[in-house]
Amino acid sequence: MLKTCGIPTEEELASRIPPKDRRKKGPVVMIECFQKIPCNPCFTACKRGAIQKFEDINDLPSIDFDKCNGCGLCISKCPGLAIFVIDETYSEDEATVSLPFEFLPLPREGEEVDLLDRSGKKVGRGRVLKVRNGKYEDRTPVITVTVPKGLSMVVRNIRVGGDLR
Ligand code: SF4
Ligand code: SF4
Repeated sequence: MLKTCGIPTEEELASRIPPKDRRKKGPVVMIECFQKIPCNPCFTACKRGAIQKFEDINDLPSIDFDKCNGCGLCISKCPGLAIFVIDETYSEDEATVSLPFEFLPLPREGEEVDLLDRSGKKVGRGRVLKVRNGKYEDRTPVITVTVPKGLSMVVRNIRVGGDLR
């Protein structure tokens, strides 16, 4: 599935989802990287050692979720836009998703946006909490958006503006 349409299967995703117990403790990374390519900037970006050392440059990232504090510093460093941070502890009925966003216009903090799934289908509306777009992000802004709690593993993109429905 991934190779033909770019969308991972449920089975592929299952191996990448942080354990439920860890998700209950606060923000945590989810790395949706499935293809063995010579790439490791996620490893060099993580100063907490949560992304384990690559034995081979073609390895897939291996995560120690207990070392990850959800800082999100790895998100903008992934050329595959494959890294997200999920916070299921944000509120009673909302989670947050932090995602890389390389489109224009950028959303403004506080703005409502469409929430999209991995296929680009609209699944709801959310509110932009934070836009990180500094020197560190180096033209890969990182957007943090609220999502209904049940969609924390579904929302992986946003559309600025939207149809307000
Ligand atoms: S979110 Fe922060 S702590 Fe977690 S893997 Fe990324 S850089 Fe490391
Ligand atoms: S930087 Fe992104 S594409 Fe490269 S290995 Fe890490 S997660 Fe995969």
